[in-house]
Amino acid sequence: MARPVIAIVGRPNVGKSTIFNRVVGDRLAIVEDKPGVTRDRLYSPGEWNGKAFSIVDTGGIEIDGEDEIMKSVRMQAELAIEEADVIIFMCDAKTGITHADEEVAQMLFRSRKPVVLAVNKVDNLNRMDEVYEFYGLGFGQPIAISGSHGLGIGDLLDAAIEKLPELEDDGYDDDVIRVALIGRPNVGKSSLVNAILGEERVIVSDVAGTTRDAIDTPFEKDGQRYVLIDTAGMRKRGKVYESTEKYSVMRAMKAIERADVVLVLINGEEGIIEQDKHIAGYAHEAGKASIFVINKWDVVDKDDKTMQAFTQNIRDHFLFMTYAPIVFLSAKTKQRLHKLLPVVNHVSEQHAMRIQTHLLNDVVSDAVAYNPPPTDKGKRLKINYVTQVATKPPTIVIFVNNPEMMHFSYERYLENKIRAAFDFEGTPVRLFTRRKS
Ligand code: GDP
Ligand code: GDP
Repeated sequence: MARPVIAIVGRPNVGKSTIFNRVVGDRLAIVEDKPGVTRDRLYSPGEWNGKAFSIVDTGGIEIDGEDEIMKSVRMQAELAIEEADVIIFMCDAKTGITHADEEVAQMLFRSRKPVVLAVNKVDNLNRMDEVYEFYGLGFGQPIAISGSHGLGIGDLLDAAIEKLPELEDDGYDDDVIRVALIGRPNVGKSSLVNAILGEERVIVSDVAGTTRDAIDTPFEKDGQRYVLIDTAGMRKRGKVYESTEKYSVMRAMKAIERADVVLVLINGEEGIIEQDKHIAGYAHEAGKASIFVINKWDVVDKDDKTMQAFTQNIRDHFLFMTYAPIVFLSAKTKQRLHKLLPVVNHVSEQHAMRIQTHLLNDVVSDAVAYNPPPTDKGKRLKINYVTQVATKPPTIVIFVNNPEMMHFSYERYLENKIRAAFDFEGTPVRLFTRRKS
């Protein structure tokens, strides 16, 4: 089920990214250990008081030209209004209310989205007088925060969480595979949708299910039901918005949140660009199954080594997603198209797979016997037992004597052994180390 989205909106320099980093801080630190995951992130999964959400810093959107600030803030607000479930509207106590703040306030107000007003740079919470004028923006009590001092962040999150909607059921049965097609403009998303729907034995249902998003496309093939998420929406939206990279990343993110399987489309003719990594990185972090789809394979000059070279190139660029299978095809000529859905079925199964505890423990004990955990100051990490606690993605908890002694490299070793034994092709696997009480 999709996580609700909290977006931070505000003028440049009010402190959006400072707050964003405060909220996702720990998580970021973990993620950045992993090579290949982008540092320039504007979205992250977050959690507060047991509520999971995605948080987005819309501040990355910048537009060149005259009136730059106003335009970029307006665009952030539009994006947040369209995509977010709760908007944190951030102002700056040091500058007071500006014209741009007022305009954004108007937009947010008209949208009727839940808004939490945060006034940042209140470095001394005794100086609440700096905050009162912000009542005038019409969003009730402003929450005073200080990004640099880490003050008020808990209150802010409490207020945002309180306004989050309950997670809605998307209306599809559990056995429907939800597939998102993701990739930059012109990579061939709409062409691929049309190609899939035009395939033999595909039955497209004209009723758009009971989902709130009428832009989903449900269909059935060989007895398996699927729904293609959001792609029509991307098609309609036009290339101007889409060409703003962060905008398309955010749209992709929403689709990814609702998906089981993400098709990361890459233009075979042009190769991999940075934007492809951002999108794939999100699918990985959101715990979705992924497949790299190399499209436009019809126009690539090929010999018997081309596919292997492209595969190597993908592996080099996406070190954190070596589990994702790669499918080469052409949406235009339908060459190799028939290979796609079987891979979708396979990774979807792997994503939902549950391994029995005794099997998992057999594999981990063998791995430990073969290569014991390193010692640290004479002490050794001891693994008591291992169990899978969740699926989609498979999530495994390793109970140990002392979690601090679990190193990233050893965890990686265990993951590799687990994958070697159980496959898990196409899906991230989450490992957590916990102290056995
Ligand atoms: P963004 O453009 O809205 O993302 O703003 P940034 O997070 O980049 O912050 C802009 C500037 O404001 C930076 O120089 C921050 O160090 C500073 N800043 C952020 N939060 C605070 C705060 O709580 N108090 C003060 N005094 N400065 C802050
Ligand atoms: P989207 O923006 O990702 O939805 O991309 P479109 O589906 O609109 O395709 C963009 C352009 O690429 C169109 O001109 C398509 O005809 C072309 N295209 C899409 N798939 C292929 C393909 O497999 N081979 C070739 N040669 N062109 C393709």
